Amino acid sequence: MKIDLHSHTCYSDGALTPRELIDRAHNMQLDVLAITDHDTVAALDEARHYQAGLRRPLQIIAGVEISTRWHGFDIHILGLNLDHQEAIFTARLAEQAQRREVRAREMAAKLEKAGVPGIYEQARRLAGQGQLTRTHFARALVKSGQVKDHEDAFRKYLGKDKRAFVKPSWPEIPEAISWIKAAGGNPVLAHPARYDLSAKWLRRLLVEFAAAGGEGMEVTHPQLAPDSKRQLASYAREYGLAASVGSDFHFPGRWTELGKNLSLPEDLVPIWKTWNLAQPQTGKSV
Ligand code: AMP
Ligand code: MN
Ligand code: MN
Ligand code: MN
Repeated sequence: MKIDLHSHTCYSDGALTPRELIDRAHNMQLDVLAITDHDTVAALDEARHYQAGLRRPLQIIAGVEISTRWHGFDIHILGLNLDHQEAIFTARLAEQAQRREVRAREMAAKLEKAGVPGIYEQARRLAGQGQLTRTHFARALVKSGQVKDHEDAFRKYLGKDKRAFVKPSWPEIPEAISWIKAAGGNPVLAHPARYDLSAKWLRRLLVEFAAAGGEGMEVTHPQLAPDSKRQLASYAREYGLAASVGSDFHFPGRWTELGKNLSLPEDLVPIWKTWNLAQPQTGKSV
């Protein structure tokens, strides 16, 4: 089965609408796609509705990527295979949206002070109905000619401790895990190799995540060196965490594609093992 359990739509900082994402996943011959926008499940109803009208083997999994704070690091926790309409869960996500709004206003105020006015309005326009992320601020800064590209925007203004950086007030990891569990989902640590943590700190994170009820970790994502993949797989074994795979797809690009390079070492327990997935049709008649 071809499975990708981490992707974004235009309801957070992805470029594609839910329909476009689903069509792309179908064209990439995925069997399973989880939609995991930053702190929102707004894409899911549209995605499910669209998918229901089509006769395709692709299965859509409801998910989310929750921002948390841990020792000054932004740690992302995926919630997979959840009930995206569960009341406690959706109430907590509404609070996350509020935090994003407050942070965005503060970032805009800092940008104004740095001589860059009007960015909030531009970022808001780019985000539309979706969650306002730093990616939208980066796009707005590029569009207004203040920086040459996204990297430059993060390096100069939006990255940790840069001129427009605002310390986010994200919840702690156990809290995010409890929301995901309230919605019946599986909490999974997203892209563990991307946090710039030393081995010692990453181990500490994994211990605390597992102790708080975390169930899985991503053991592979695109652009991860084979050595790092092996290391993540060994952590999953050591800390008794199930394995997840995801491309963290945001937009079609040279380096990013749905379902690309996501094979899983065979001895790991896949996070989807307990899910009720339909087996893919082979196309052969019996
Ligand atoms: P936020 O959740 O609003 O803090 O925005 C974080 C998002 O910004 C991430 O999900 C990435 O998609 C993007 N991002 C973070 N750091 C960088 C970076 N250095 N360069 C480009 N994009 C980044
Ligand atoms: Mn993102
Ligand atoms: Mn992330
Ligand atoms: Mn992501």
